[in-house]
Amino acid sequence: MGGRRRHTGRGPHRQRSGVTPRRAVVAGGGIIGTWHALELAEAGFRVDHLEAEAGPTGASVRNFGLIWVSGRRAGTELAVARRARRRWQEIGTLAPGIGFRPMSSLTVATDTAGCSVMRTFAEHPDAAARGISFLEPDDVRACNPAVLGDVEGALHCTEDAVVEPRLALAALRAHIAAAHGDRYRFHPGCRVTGAEPHALVDTTGTRWEGDLAVLATGAAYDHLPGTGAMATRLRRVRLQMLQTAPFPATLTTSLADSDSLRYYPAYESAPLDQLGAQTPVAAEHHLQLLLVQRPDGGLTIGDTHAYGEPFDFALCEDPTRELLARAGRILGSELPPVQRRWEGVYAQCVDGDVCLREEIQPGVWMVTGPGGRGMTCSPAIAADTLHAAGVAA
Ligand SMILES: Cc1cc2nc3c(=O)[nH]c(=O)nc-3n(C[C@H](O)[C@H](O)[C@H](O)COP(=O)(O)OP(=O)(O)OC[C@H]3O[C@@H](n4cnc5c(N)ncnc54)[C@H](O)[C@@H]3O)c2cc1C
Repeated sequence: MGGRRRHTGRGPHRQRSGVTPRRAVVAGGGIIGTWHALELAEAGFRVDHLEAEAGPTGASVRNFGLIWVSGRRAGTELAVARRARRRWQEIGTLAPGIGFRPMSSLTVATDTAGCSVMRTFAEHPDAAARGISFLEPDDVRACNPAVLGDVEGALHCTEDAVVEPRLALAALRAHIAAAHGDRYRFHPGCRVTGAEPHALVDTTGTRWEGDLAVLATGAAYDHLPGTGAMATRLRRVRLQMLQTAPFPATLTTSLADSDSLRYYPAYESAPLDQLGAQTPVAAEHHLQLLLVQRPDGGLTIGDTHAYGEPFDFALCEDPTRELLARAGRILGSELPPVQRRWEGVYAQCVDGDVCLREEIQPGVWMVTGPGGRGMTCSPAIAADTLHAAGVAA
């Protein structure tokens, strides 16, 4: 869409006159960059959206597509996730290609220890704050008839939802183009190599000037000059995932297992020490079961977490076998064959902030580090950048 253009002579003064649209440039075609492009276009900006690759292939297309309100930390993080979910739903109605659908989740206990921790958590006000309740085994099966395994109980969250990660970015871009016409241009194959006040510079030396520039380069947060100090507040995390052939039954919820209680801050108030030790494979790979059914019936299953770079370049079979066994145990049936396996890397704030948002040059904001909640929170993260930069509509 649209050829690359050289931008000159734009600046904050023209922006404030209101005579011509303000101009913004966004680097990064992942979900963080794309929601920034959408919010900026809606705020009246002309937006040039630059993506280094021929098309985005980062964390945003490799994830589960879970809009996972259930796991969010009480306070700011939960509020951000709730706002974001509302926005996903709103735009999902206008752009059905995103694949947004409300889908509650079951975090399932397959042993008495996990079940007891869940019962205790369900009585805590943090549970009610997210619409989480404890379900007995019969209620679990009533909620999701595909769960035919031997389960002890589950936490049910009514606020979660799902989008389609392989489709969402293109659908959002098409929506922006349809709604805002020639004020939005997407430029694949345009890699940013530097930032200057109110401008980004690409590998050809082209300066993309804007009243506001946003760097949403995901895990490539330390590739530009001047980002070293900021990078100390971030780390990369590598995950392994897989997808099966279509499963014959329809899953009416997403699924997680009790190991997920260890990784989501929502459960900090639960007596997690009662869970006991993870299995050796789970401990080695920081593993939890998450499972989402895609519209074609396939099951997206994960995940693992590796924190130490350099990451292994190979996909490891041990956690794959464990994840498949856990999923089969909960569903009470053999799973279809695995069709795809992949890895993904996201950037995460080491201090637990929802994301890192920093003005690294006048008018140039780096926004990254949402960790495992980036798909969930991206709409609200983008809206908050416009507020931080003082350009919200
Ligand atoms: C396996 C996996 C599962 C996950 N599951 C979920 C989930 O279910 N729910 C959830 O909420 N979150 C989930 N996450 C987290 C979520 O996917 C990420 O937080 C989010 O996608 C990050 O988006 P991003 O736009 O910052 O990064 P990315 O998607 O990586 O996008 C960054 C983009 O910037 C481009 N780029 C990089 N450098 C440059 C440059 N110099 N110039 C121009 N472009 C550049 C890249 O090519 C890339 O397209 C998961 C992550 C992974 C890896």
